[in-house]
Amino acid sequence: MSDIRTALVTGASRGIGKAIALRLARDGRHVALVSRSAGPLGDVRHAIEAAGGKASVFTADVADNKAFAETIEKVASDLGRIDILVNNAGITKDGLILRMSDEDWNTVIQTNLTSCFVAIRAAARHMMRGKFGRIVNISSTSGVVGNAGQANYAAAKAGLIGLSKTVARELGGKNITCNVVAPGFIETDMTSDLPAEIKDKIQQMMAIRRLGVSEDIAAAVSYLTADDAGYITGQTICVDGGMTMA
Ligand code: NDP
Repeated sequence: MSDIRTALVTGASRGIGKAIALRLARDGRHVALVSRSAGPLGDVRHAIEAAGGKASVFTADVADNKAFAETIEKVASDLGRIDILVNNAGITKDGLILRMSDEDWNTVIQTNLTSCFVAIRAAARHMMRGKFGRIVNISSTSGVVGNAGQANYAAAKAGLIGLSKTVARELGGKNITCNVVAPGFIETDMTSDLPAEIKDKIQQMMAIRRLGVSEDIAAAVSYLTADDAGYITGQTICVDGGMTMA
């Protein structure tokens, strides 16, 4: 078994997941990059390798339980171990609740919540074998305080908080921690469609008067996945410029 800790990051092809992957590679992790798009994942791998780090690409649709669980087993068998799991892949399908379709509800719950359950169940076995684990689930301040137009998304992201506290309690005795990072408003593809005046308004709600960048989230994930972060578990850290202070 390699001495290098392995970190599996979902949604690593762009945005926050890409920044997390780059940061964990800088921290000396061998990063397993997971998303549906091989091309962008390959670019992230090249960036990591160019900086002297280690990364491998695994394409998977996290919303497909069986295929995703198989991908996690492939990561474990190809890289020999899974020490760190960052469940970051996520989507939005916004709409007011009176008009929200069953399909939009189910798709967001499946992609943003059920996939994390599937990943934790599969990866925890490998962490137990290695007697070490760090799990970070990327939620959202929408899951902490709610957000009009995001019933499906807020429910999934709030669900991650309950899931994480339970995993923290079940696996704490095995030296496995499970925490949540809840970003506020981070400039990525997910938020690029918002009009400038809405972004200005959001910025005014923040104690630190700027929108977040993906590296702000990556820094929190780096901290929670460190070897010496072993006494922090079941926590939710809002990385939101002081927007919610929940
Ligand atoms: P982006 O839309 O920029 O990126 C989403 C990532 O998730 C992509 O890498 C995408 O990869 C991957 N992904 C989406 N669906 C699937 C799927 N079914 N299977 C595998 N991978 C998938 O989003 P952000 O970087 O902005 O968001 C990352 C996380 O942070 C999400 O969970 C989001 O909810 C959360 N968040 C973001 C906030 C923000 O302001 N940006 C605020 C609060 C939370 P690909 O398309 O290649 O499959």
